[in-house]
Amino acid sequence: MECILIGTGGMMPMPYRMLSSMAVRLNGALYLFDAGEGTQINWKKARLGVRGLKVIAVTHLHADHCLGIPGMMMFKAQMEESAPLVILGPPGIGEFVSQCRRLLDFRLNYPVTVIEWSPESDGLAFCDEQAKILWQPVQHTRFCLGYRLEELDRPGKFSPERAQELGVERGPLWGRLQRGQSVTTPSQRTVEPSEVLGPPRRGRHVAFVVDTRPAPGVYALCREADLAFLEGMFLAEHGQHAEKKGHMTAVEAAAVARRAQVERVVLTHISPRYENFELKELEDEARREFEPVRVGRDLDTFAVSFPEVPGD
Ligand SMILES: [Zn+2]
Ligand SMILES: [Zn+2]
Repeated sequence: MECILIGTGGMMPMPYRMLSSMAVRLNGALYLFDAGEGTQINWKKARLGVRGLKVIAVTHLHADHCLGIPGMMMFKAQMEESAPLVILGPPGIGEFVSQCRRLLDFRLNYPVTVIEWSPESDGLAFCDEQAKILWQPVQHTRFCLGYRLEELDRPGKFSPERAQELGVERGPLWGRLQRGQSVTTPSQRTVEPSEVLGPPRRGRHVAFVVDTRPAPGVYALCREADLAFLEGMFLAEHGQHAEKKGHMTAVEAAAVARRAQVERVVLTHISPRYENFELKELEDEARREFEPVRVGRDLDTFAVSFPEVPGD
């Protein structure tokens, strides 16, 4: 699993920092969180390919988070046999997408499904054969969602010794047991996968939470994540402004990460008032609160490895 920061800016694009957008790549599928204006520019620089783009999950209907959607949809339509697209977002995202399609009159060659959060929604927004996406309202100046992508659990660790004890010799039957199928030994004994596999091992979890105060939903989304992208828009000296505008400072984001026990945190949605040479200051402030923190730059890529399991 890889996470690619497409854009790390908030509010307006800068020559050196594009707007909010982060892609998760998992076995050829791409899940995009936010698509600020011009997302396709850095997407192309990252050479991700667009055919495998399956989901665009939008946090809220502020321009710096959603104006890139029509461009990404049109870009994807340039490809042959593009995968179907699911768009997740707050109430109103369906109208935004349909009005863009109607007014801009662009044609798509793949099916699009839009799923809007509603008060009846439970925490699960989307699920496919390898991952699920969870959503939670957070606390901003307008309705805003945070997201968490969870890779589905993997089967438990296979025990060759146990298989042999039960009369299953090395060969194709081992593979079937590892894939969760029962097998029959030469002596006609049926061996169930649960007899040779350890407990299921959890997949990798990534949180993406921007444009919010430190609200309960933020903690729920970040809880023990292997990697969390959190907005760290301001230095502490601009804390009052952050509070008024429904944002977090870098220090507040780092404190959330520490309390939610995330493995590591990357700060994004950086205010245009800071130039890139000033980002170290944001990082230093945050690090006093939580050591495994860094400020993301456009096109930074993060490999996410499986959480360590004792005895694995
Ligand atoms: Zn924003
Ligand atoms: Zn906003």
